[in-house]
Amino acid sequence: MKSTRYPRIAFRSPDEIEARQSVLLREHVRYCINHSPYYKKTLSDARIPFEAPMGELLAGLPLTDKHDLEKDNDEFRAVALRRVIDIVTSSGTTGQPTRIPYTEHDLKRLAYNEAKSFIGCGLTRDDVILLTCTLDRCFIAGLAYFLGARYLGAASIRNGHDTLEGYAGIIRRHRPTALVGVPSFIRKMGGYLREAGLNPAAASIRRIVAIGEPVRGRDMKLLESGREIEETWGACVYSTYASSETVTTFCECVAQQGGHLHPDLAVLEIIDDDGNPLPNGKIGEVVLTPLGVEGMPLIRFRTGDLTFRISGPCPCGRNSVRLGPILGRRAQMLKVQGTTLYPPSILAALAAMEEVSDYYVSAHSDTALSDRITVHVTLKRDATICSETIASRLRAQLRVRPAVLIEPENTLRKIVYSPASRKPVRFVDRRGI
Ligand SMILES: [Zn+2]
Repeated sequence: MKSTRYPRIAFRSPDEIEARQSVLLREHVRYCINHSPYYKKTLSDARIPFEAPMGELLAGLPLTDKHDLEKDNDEFRAVALRRVIDIVTSSGTTGQPTRIPYTEHDLKRLAYNEAKSFIGCGLTRDDVILLTCTLDRCFIAGLAYFLGARYLGAASIRNGHDTLEGYAGIIRRHRPTALVGVPSFIRKMGGYLREAGLNPAAASIRRIVAIGEPVRGRDMKLLESGREIEETWGACVYSTYASSETVTTFCECVAQQGGHLHPDLAVLEIIDDDGNPLPNGKIGEVVLTPLGVEGMPLIRFRTGDLTFRISGPCPCGRNSVRLGPILGRRAQMLKVQGTTLYPPSILAALAAMEEVSDYYVSAHSDTALSDRITVHVTLKRDATICSETIASRLRAQLRVRPAVLIEPENTLRKIVYSPASRKPVRFVDRRGI
């Protein structure tokens, strides 16, 4: 497959960007019809407005969702099995993981994607990047960042799954200049170093690429957790967004004002509940059409994640559209006491409470129209806070007052660090059970 790369495309005018994307999108749709059994079946009889402007062309294409992927997983593979070199899995909606086959070309494309993201947030080949995300267990993130660092020419330290003590030793000995990891782990690591009498801000790390959890809120300001990371480490934190199915990632640039889309790698839409495209600034579901993917190409893939789009020139000089922070997942929307909210805002409020050492949130159905949420926490050893105070603090931030249960660490850890899940479980949805 031909590469779709145009390294400086984000610095072109919006019209030039759209013209280039239109060409790439048409090529992509033709590739899907010719190679993907699923799209061959779905689209070969459809009247696709190939010559129409991009908005119209997109509107003439069907959406693809996670249920389609689960139901017809193998039908989405567009290459012979012998051309697949890595199999990634993504947790599906029914608990059955979805297989995503990557070819050599797809991994190179991903390396280019991550290298562009690293360059955007100021990293160069002189950097030493500490990767705290694992490269195994069929995850793609760790491998993607490793390949991106390699493409950039920077040095990686692939420390993956390790203890805080192990990490402290790595930071002391190898003096990384940048770190990639999940914000809650980075905060924990900062706390550990401080308790050990060390000052994380005096370490060598100046840039932190935050994955998997939001560090910014709806107003684009850093959440308490993000602010604490910047302060503790004396480093800048850059938010990212990624989805394994679309082989595409977004990362903030040095201006820290939303994750840049790489226009030669994907087309971004935000849609409402009925599938209609939404204008900039309106919250809706992220829909991505990754360009130039060979193994499992997708058209208008509904990620299930909710946020908004930002356009207009960025202070960094790029004109590519940017993605706001992920505010929640569509399926996890909660209706509590007449207010709509999403688990990430509750989790962010809990993460910001100094007395709380670990936590999760569970949801139950009260009635068909209303949910009930319970916040489960364990407290730090010297904390004196009571559940009433935690509930009041949450009410001040969320406008709803959840039930709060203080639980022994062991009981809570069994849920949060369940062996059945690859990631910490911080939202347990018992609605409809
Ligand atoms: Zn920018």
